[in-house]
Amino acid sequence: MNVILLGPPGAGKGTQAKMLVEEYQIPQISTGDILRAAVKEGSPLGKEAKACMDKGELVPDSVVIGIVEERIQQPDCAKGYMLDGFPRTVPQAEALDGMLQNLSSQIDHVVSIEVASEELVGRLTGRRTCRDCGVGFHVMFDPPEQEGVCDKCGGELYQRDDDNVETVTSRLEVYESQTLPLIDYYTAQEKIRPIDGVGDIKEIFGRVTQVLS
Ligand code: ADP
Ligand code: ADP
Ligand code: ZN
Repeated sequence: MNVILLGPPGAGKGTQAKMLVEEYQIPQISTGDILRAAVKEGSPLGKEAKACMDKGELVPDSVVIGIVEERIQQPDCAKGYMLDGFPRTVPQAEALDGMLQNLSSQIDHVVSIEVASEELVGRLTGRRTCRDCGVGFHVMFDPPEQEGVCDKCGGELYQRDDDNVETVTSRLEVYESQTLPLIDYYTAQEKIRPIDGVGDIKEIFGRVTQVLS
């Protein structure tokens, strides 16, 4: 089963993906996580990406398309995968369709997590992320058992550089202009599965698994 998790920054894609990995035993492919790992390593890719990420802009399509093309052909993706944060533009979606066609594969579901933008700012500015495993928490809505420490791996929690009010505002604008057209793109393919993303995290997980089963 190949799934895309679509939704604005802060919709809960990463939160749901981590739970879905356990449920379906297929990997989460987060282009954001892969780019942050490259930034941490200080690789040329990381240096190029950081400038865009810090401004709340998208990194070039060619960069993320290359990352995903390589990743989905790894052995652990043979039984399926969840794309989290990719595609984010129509050219990315077209490139994905092209590469899947070459691999005689396809996307089965596009889970579209819907949350109003007023709620997203508070979710993103209160998000705390694990430096080691990338899991996200929220200071109020999903606090870790011990402040500043990841429940899952014991790693240190930090606030991402782009989770401040100014950058969040740009990211939400970029979503509206560049990513929202994907709803029409995948509606035309009859793959959109809309999910109400407001409410209890476990309840939303129930809605998602219902759609996927
Ligand atoms: P995305 O990957 O779509 O950007 P995240 O999964 O990282 O979003 O969630 C953004 C923030 O909102 C995190 O701090 C997370 O803990 C919190 N969050 C996730 N789901 C919910 C929810 N249903 N209600 C309230 N807060 C949530
Ligand atoms: P969020 O959890 O808020 O949705 P991500 O971790 O997915 O954020 O992405 C963080 C940043 O990484 C984006 O603002 C963008 O700069 C870059 N990025 C991630 N995925 C993509 C993509 N598919 N295309 C272009 N840029 C991306
Ligand atoms: Zn962790």
